[in-house]
Amino acid sequence: MANSKRTCSFCGRTEKEVPLLINGISALICSDCARAAYKIVQEAQGVSETRQDDFNLKLSELPKPCDIKNYLDQYVIGQDDAKRYLAVSVYNHYKRLAQERDDDGVEIEKSNIVMVGPTGTGKTLLARSIAKLLKVPFTIVDATVFTEAGYVGEDVESILSRLLQVANWDVKMAERGIVFIDEIDKIARKSDNPSITRDVSGEGVQQGLLKLLEGSIVNVPPKGGRKHPDQDYVHVDTHNILFICGGAFDGIERKIAQRLNTHVVGFNSIQNMRSIDKNNLMQYVQPQDLKSFGLIPEIIGRLPVLTYLNPLDRDALRRILLEPKNSLVKQQQKLFAMDGIMLEFSDDVIEYIVDKAMEYKLGARGLRSIMETLMMKLQYESPSTRKAGERIVITREYAQQQLENSILQEASSVS
Ligand code: ADP
Repeated sequence: MANSKRTCSFCGRTEKEVPLLINGISALICSDCARAAYKIVQEAQGVSETRQDDFNLKLSELPKPCDIKNYLDQYVIGQDDAKRYLAVSVYNHYKRLAQERDDDGVEIEKSNIVMVGPTGTGKTLLARSIAKLLKVPFTIVDATVFTEAGYVGEDVESILSRLLQVANWDVKMAERGIVFIDEIDKIARKSDNPSITRDVSGEGVQQGLLKLLEGSIVNVPPKGGRKHPDQDYVHVDTHNILFICGGAFDGIERKIAQRLNTHVVGFNSIQNMRSIDKNNLMQYVQPQDLKSFGLIPEIIGRLPVLTYLNPLDRDALRRILLEPKNSLVKQQQKLFAMDGIMLEFSDDVIEYIVDKAMEYKLGARGLRSIMETLMMKLQYESPSTRKAGERIVITREYAQQQLENSILQEASSVS
């Protein structure tokens, strides 16, 4: 064979770089290229058209905004406003996809969403939960990994590669998908003045993102990156892709307070000011606050639906422990039930976990680590020491002892 190094005759990668290399009479093809070639043939024969038809959305069969919210209620505690906004946006997204076939000249515009709320209050959970319900490709990306094109880090186009992956590289499917961009606040401009030094992970990335949000044809490197100059890019039209962004926007309350303060002048305003809930300023967030925080106006304009998440109070944390379909308590009970052991938590231990979570100020994230710490010893021992059919009740004293022991252990490993 002419190919002494055994490389794929199509992408040029060596045997080691590809999953499988298939021999031909005078050429070799790797499994990736074979799959890509199969798709080209299918497309040429109009097969993908049929798949697209399969994918046509019948609005009557889709969950209505109220159904979407009810569904989210099973997994996410509270955050009713965010749930409603999300439900409506997703439903409108479906309508947008369904509308393309009528030609009455009225075009429903896309409503990308931005969710603002402290860390650990359920932004990602909302996005993940809604993904389970959706009939469109969905992916979650983290904005912190992006840098301006040409710098170390990922280009924003990689968002579309991920969506394509989820859609099994079916471009038409991916073009109707939903992308959740987490930590959008981390690409805020570092200061209000456009900086003299380059801001490769801030404004530059926002500019890159803008292209995707506003809808354009984006060239995405084919699977595995573009290895060869002649290798074609995949063209993805982002007009119908819905973008949901989330971020903690730490410190945005100060910007909101400043705006509220400067706008209140006169007697009526003083009255209004009194009704402002100073403990939760996030609920008054407005697009101009995102601008003060460092998002460029063009990006804000492309995220017309703005909603917020509430900080989690004691009651919400207690409910999170107990109520969601896969609540932490239910998960622990299931783990023990698999060994035939019945696990119960006394009421005061639940209060104790909530107290500790409030102390740690990590939102619901604190609950998980507290639960893991206090259950570690039992998880380790009980499969060998307990018999099937036994019952274990976790008490406040036990929980306190376990947490204190682990703190002591940590302290001794530091000293
Ligand atoms: P963030 O707002 O930072 O994206 P996450 O959605 O990742 O927070 O929340 C972290 C974890 O805390 C979730 O996996 C979930 O277990 C729990 N959690 C947070 N908020 C809620 C909520 N409102 N209802 C139920 N669980 C929640």
